[in-house]
Amino acid sequence: MIHYQRDLAELTAQDFIDVVRLHAEDGVDFVTLHCGITRKTIEQIRKHKRKMNIVSRGGSLVFAWMSMTGQENPFYEHFDEILDICEEHDVTISLGDACRPGCLADATDVCQIEELVRLGELTKRAWDHNVQVMVEGPGHVPLDQVAANMEVQKSICMGAPFYVLGPLVTDIAPGYDHITAAIGGAVAAMSGAAFLCYVTPAEHLALPNVEDVKNGIIASKIAAHAADIAKGIPHARDIDDKMADARRVLDWDAQFACALDPETAKAIRDARLPEDDHSDTCSMCGKFCAVRSMNKALAGEHIDIL
Ligand code: SF4
Repeated sequence: MIHYQRDLAELTAQDFIDVVRLHAEDGVDFVTLHCGITRKTIEQIRKHKRKMNIVSRGGSLVFAWMSMTGQENPFYEHFDEILDICEEHDVTISLGDACRPGCLADATDVCQIEELVRLGELTKRAWDHNVQVMVEGPGHVPLDQVAANMEVQKSICMGAPFYVLGPLVTDIAPGYDHITAAIGGAVAAMSGAAFLCYVTPAEHLALPNVEDVKNGIIASKIAAHAADIAKGIPHARDIDDKMADARRVLDWDAQFACALDPETAKAIRDARLPEDDHSDTCSMCGKFCAVRSMNKALAGEHIDIL
């Protein structure tokens, strides 16, 4: 509607398809399309009474267009035409999940699973048409349901790459949702998610600023790295072992070189250096530094704590 500068209800199904073609001709690598909701979803959402209904921006607009026009989802009804466009321009489809849960209470409910089953059907149709897909996933999910969600998706979508938005494992931490997302993201990635969508501290609150984006990306990288280690990916842990070696010898520059965010690590240390001459330690324990004490004890040296 932004492209056409027309009201949502005035758009035609062909308008939606034409925008996909426009992007494909412009050379985009992938498009996110909410193909998985249908008129059945409208009934399902009304009948099922979710706490948060639909929280996907694109999904809510497709739902609204279907509600206002009485027509079927154009991305679903004309999926073959979309596949023709994507095959011709080598565009990957990111199958959006309009019904991803927007709160813990809606997780793994009938709306989410019903759409996932349809995304599985569309994945097969895309592959048969020589078009690559990735499948979007939840959302807000209790921690104990995250691994099961990955298993169900892998099974229904036949191993297509799963792209998760978090998942956020609690609803009560606005301002810290990069952390709630990283907790779910680590478990999701360990359980088979292929792609973590980062979440910023501004999630649910505001448009993120540069600092929010940085914090969100770092949190997501921590989750992905933790999952790589847990999955036993060869050499994933090498950098952690290097960090441990640097910590053991209290080599601070080597520690910063291993850090995911060296600038922040260095700034924190430099702002709070030990006050006495124990400058090889940090100000957390100062002269009682366990690392320093052990190094000296094992070397047979005197340990001065005064
Ligand atoms: S002072 Fe304490 S926190 Fe700092 S390096 Fe030594 S043991 Fe670690």
